[in-house]
Amino acid sequence: GNISIFWFDHGWFWFIPLADGATSVGAVCWPYYLKARKSDPTTFLHETIALCPAIAERLKDAELLGPVTATGNYSYTSERMSGEGYIMLGDAFAFIDPVFSSGVYLAMNSAFLGADTVDVCLRQPHRAARALKQFDAAIRRGLATFSWFIYRITTPVFRDLFMHPRDIFRIEQAMLSLLAGDIFRPSPVHSRLALFKGLYYFMNLLDSRRSFAAWRRRRMAIRDPQAEAATAAAR
Ligand SMILES: Cc1cc2nc3c(=O)[nH]c(=O)nc-3n(C[C@H](O)[C@H](O)[C@H](O)COP(=O)(O)OP(=O)(O)OC[C@H]3O[C@@H](n4cnc5c(N)ncnc54)[C@H](O)[C@@H]3O)c2cc1C
Repeated sequence: GNISIFWFDHGWFWFIPLADGATSVGAVCWPYYLKARKSDPTTFLHETIALCPAIAERLKDAELLGPVTATGNYSYTSERMSGEGYIMLGDAFAFIDPVFSSGVYLAMNSAFLGADTVDVCLRQPHRAARALKQFDAAIRRGLATFSWFIYRITTPVFRDLFMHPRDIFRIEQAMLSLLAGDIFRPSPVHSRLALFKGLYYFMNLLDSRRSFAAWRRRRMAIRDPQAEAATAAAR
């Protein structure tokens, strides 16, 4: 089945149908909301699902198959990607928010690029330094491309663009290519994504009051556990 994302007031849910009929469900929430948790993770997940009618409806007949677990912000990037006799692939090097379901693709892609790099290092040691540098740059470029979108996905302007897509200059197709992971080869996708970024900044300027208010709410939501009341009041 298709992967779904459900946005709600305190964050977003993932809903990923698996091959055996089970579905992976979880929530990524703002710190103020998670810090307010008083119940155990299972109860808290059910309470959180109840706050989002769309996913509650999808799950009304669902049965919980395993234990519910909770974890804190786990995004990271290592300082170096390779050293004497090793390279780092996939999550070993970096982990970014899974909102675009990019992790497995990024890991597999880094494995393919990494295998070619190791091949060069072993067969043509005089080219090793250059191959490792190219490998490093390609992986960081891919992560940066996804990260730009991930960091902005909760902003009102981004959400408007995402939820009401119009395929001007084939930007929508470029976004689909991004989501499919097709960003590692030279293609027109990159200029269309740059156009999307330009459009995003332009719309933020047009709607600067709302953007500034959202930026302030986001800062409060991250910094202050008491910000829930302020966030609710600002809506
Ligand atoms: C909540 C959540 C939701 C996610 N959703 C998605 C999604 O929808 N789509 C998506 O593409 N990605 C998703 N990801 C990310 C994705 O799971 C990872 O990015 C991906 O699995 C990385 O693959 P990897 O091979 O680098 O690492 P892993 O999948 O972690 O594989 C590493 C393996 O090495 C083994 N290992 C560790 N140490 C040793 C050792 N010393 N000796 C031998 N073996 C060892 C581990 O047991 C593990 O099996 C999600 C991640 C999280 C946390």
